[in-house]
Amino acid sequence: MSSTLGEQPVSTQRQPRPASISTTNKAWVAQAAKQPMTLETVELGPLGAEDVEIAVEHCGLCHSDLSILNNEWGLSQYPAILGHEVVGRVTAVGPNAKGLKIGQRVGVGWHSGSCMHCHQCMSGSHHLCPEVQFTIVGHRGGFASHIRTHWAWAIPLPDKLNFAEAGPLLCGGVTVFAPLAMHAKPTGRVGIIGIGGLGHMAVKFAAAYGCDVTAFTSSESKFEEALGFGANHVVSSKDSAAIKKLALRFDLLISTVNVKLDWDTMLNTLAPNGRLHVVGAVLEPIPVAAFSLIAGQRSLSGSPAGSPVTIETMLDFASRHNVVPQTEHFPMSKINEAFAWLESGKARYRIVLDADF
Ligand SMILES: [Zn+2]
Ligand SMILES: [Zn+2]
Repeated sequence: MSSTLGEQPVSTQRQPRPASISTTNKAWVAQAAKQPMTLETVELGPLGAEDVEIAVEHCGLCHSDLSILNNEWGLSQYPAILGHEVVGRVTAVGPNAKGLKIGQRVGVGWHSGSCMHCHQCMSGSHHLCPEVQFTIVGHRGGFASHIRTHWAWAIPLPDKLNFAEAGPLLCGGVTVFAPLAMHAKPTGRVGIIGIGGLGHMAVKFAAAYGCDVTAFTSSESKFEEALGFGANHVVSSKDSAAIKKLALRFDLLISTVNVKLDWDTMLNTLAPNGRLHVVGAVLEPIPVAAFSLIAGQRSLSGSPAGSPVTIETMLDFASRHNVVPQTEHFPMSKINEAFAWLESGKARYRIVLDADF
C-alpha cells in the first residue's frame, strides 16, 4: 500500500526539486493508536530546500516512541512513522542546506526542525523554538529506510563514536546530558532517580563528568549494574528511611522516572541551592511544599532533549569519555517484537533497531 504521510514543512523556503531526487521510502507505519506497525511504501515527494535526506542505518527505540504509538500524551498524529534516535548517512542535500555533504554520517534526535529566526533559535536554544518540529509527530521518523530533516538538526557524528550504539545518545543521551551541562559541577554530588533507559546513561555521564553519583532505583536487581555504570552509591527508591538519611546531600537530582515518588522526601535530600531537575515524563502533578524550596533556596526545573549544539557537545564528550549506552539490538523487521519487549520493562537498557529493508 502506498500512502502520503502528511508532509510537514519546517522551513518556509521550500523549492520544487527534480523528481529524480525524491526517494521512495520503505517505512514501518502505525495506522492508528496501539496498532502493530506494518511495512509500507511511502512517497516522499520533493526534498525541501533546507532539508537533507538520510539513509537510516540504526534507530534507537525510545520510551517516547511507545508513548506516541499509544497516544499517551494526546498529541499523536496517524498514520505515524516512529523512531527518533537515527544514525545514518546523508544521501541528498537540499540546495539551501548548510554544512553537510553526501555520505557523511549524522544523527537525528527528538527534534528535526525549528524556525531558525525566533529569539530562541537565534540564541542557540533551537529546542525551545515555539515552532520546533518533533521528529515523530506530524513528521516521518526513522523506523524507515530514509528520513528527512532540516540540516541544522542532522548532527555530524564524531569519527571515534561507535555509531551502531550511538542512536540512544541522540534523544535519551542529550536529555540527561543537558541538565548536567547546565547545572552540575565535577565537584558536586548528583543523584540519578530511576536506572532505566535514561538513568543508566545519566549515571555514565555524571560519573565521566567527575561527580559523586548516587543511583536511586526501585529494583534491587539493578544495584550491581548501577555501580558498574559508575555510580558511587546505590539506594533503593522504595526505602524512605534510607532516603531520609540523605537529607541536605545533593547539589543536583535528575529524575528520569515516569511514576510518582515521595517528592517532599526527595526534595529534602537537596543541599542548600540544590536542584531537582525532571526529565522523566511523569503525568501526575508533582506536589511541592513552598517551604521545601524556600528554606534551602532550592529549585525545581525540567528540560526537553537539547539544542543542536548541546547534542554536538554531548557526542564529543561521549566519544572522548567512551560513554556508550547499554543496548539490545533487533533487526528493524522485528519492530513489533521490539516494542513489546520495551513495553514489558525488560529491556536492558536501550533498544536499537538495525535497518534491514
Ligand atoms: Zn525558532
Ligand atoms: Zn526519545
